[in-house]
Amino acid sequence: MAITPEVAKKLRGKGLRVLLEHGAGAAAGFPDAGYAEVEFASAADVLAQADLLTCVLPPEDAALAHLREGAIVLGQLRPHGAAARIAALAQKKLTAFALELLPRTTRAQAMDVLSSQAAVAGYRAMLIAADNAPKFFPMLTTAAGTIRPSRVLVIGAGVAGLQAIATARRLGAQIEGYDVRPETREQVESLGAKFLDLGVSAAGSGGYARELTAEERAAQQQALAEHLKVFDVVVTTAAVPGRAAPKILTVAMVEGMKPGALIVDLAAESGGNCELTRPGERVEQGGVTILGPLNLAAGAALHASEMYARNIYNFAELLVRDGALQPDFQDELVAKSCVARNGEALVNA
Ligand code: NAD
Repeated sequence: MAITPEVAKKLRGKGLRVLLEHGAGAAAGFPDAGYAEVEFASAADVLAQADLLTCVLPPEDAALAHLREGAIVLGQLRPHGAAARIAALAQKKLTAFALELLPRTTRAQAMDVLSSQAAVAGYRAMLIAADNAPKFFPMLTTAAGTIRPSRVLVIGAGVAGLQAIATARRLGAQIEGYDVRPETREQVESLGAKFLDLGVSAAGSGGYARELTAEERAAQQQALAEHLKVFDVVVTTAAVPGRAAPKILTVAMVEGMKPGALIVDLAAESGGNCELTRPGERVEQGGVTILGPLNLAAGAALHASEMYARNIYNFAELLVRDGALQPDFQDELVAKSCVARNGEALVNA
């Protein structure tokens, strides 16, 4: 939900009217009754009246048809490889901001939907792992003997991966983290996990990783295959912006893992980090289970929405001056996230 009761109140405080579709927040834990000083209408009426449409996912073509020319659309617009979608926004003469394109700067942190939603996804992925693994995560000393802790590896130590590591630690697993950006070593270790060093380094620009060359990828896979044999659970979160998820775990590597091992592939939505991942499905291969869960943030919808709505509000503040919507295109955060304006699809899409 892009507008929670807390954020609705803040938007009202900025002098804006807030109009919501009946029941829009109910599934995320925000029933209509929880909103004060908000107007409710049908979806079509909301769209027809909106000067600023906030959304969690890109509006569908049918919704675009209801919007007024000149209206602003703000949210996760999935801009990468979506030229047709951006063209449709431009054709309708909408001004559209895709928050995925915000630069990862300190000032942008409060609006950073990739971070807030990745944190939820990382937490949820590790809970799904714990729930589906045939072993306990913590060490247990019982009258029936001692249970050794599960060994867990997290591949990709960005926002989601670090949250997954922290969650596995809280559950008592013996945890290791791996990433191609060298600065992640310290971040992994600061969470009490061990850094798995495979000797492949691929820092890109803007704090992101770059795509590995074929040689680097082969070296990574060779080194990783040997290590994988000891892990009970592997959670993969590796991503390179604007590209399909890197394929890190091959069929042969999976087949070399312990029987009963579990892989949770958080990158399933963008193609998966494992060759065997099927988005939204459970795959069994040689005694190893591979899960490719989708839309993980929805599994913690209330907190995911609270963070998302605050991100939306913090960005919307850049668009409002004197109670009116007047985006300041001199502001780099506004300019860099804008994908359509004055009937034009912008290049940074
Ligand atoms: P992401 O979702 O693009 O990628 C997830 C992780 O996968 C990254 O850590 C990346 O290095 C890793 N990865 C990519 N290819 C890999 C491969 N072949 N093998 C192993 N790992 C691979 O990244 P993200 O989590 O959105 O953010 C990455 C970083 O950006 C953060 O850790 C942080 O340094 C920076 N960041 C900065 C801000 C800010 O200052 N506003 C906010 C969020 C993130």
